[in-house]
Amino acid sequence: MITAETNPIAIKKKGNRSLEISWEDGHVSLYSFRYLRQNCSCAGCVEEWTGKKVLDKDVIPLDLLGLKAATTGNYALSFSFSDHHDTGIYHFDHLREICPCVICKE
Ligand SMILES: [Zn+2]
Ligand SMILES: [Zn+2]
Repeated sequence: MITAETNPIAIKKKGNRSLEISWEDGHVSLYSFRYLRQNCSCAGCVEEWTGKKVLDKDVIPLDLLGLKAATTGNYALSFSFSDHHDTGIYHFDHLREICPCVICKE
């Protein structure tokens, strides 16, 4: 379900390295594409049945770039990363959940 907290009103690429999402409740999230890549939940990165991460976060290059960002339906985003990975679907509620800002980390 989309609430104000999980409803993006603006999605902006900030150069090739980060993405900014403004949410309807006024919160702004800034993600590096590397961080998004590390949190990919596609079948290749997370075990489908156990939810266990099979992706080793450290193998993601420090200089990873985001080549493309696109909305999927009206509930998710998908990205093309410079390591040729593009199978992840990032639901808005998941994106809000992994917001890396200090307020959300607390
Ligand atoms: Zn993945
Ligand atoms: Zn936040």
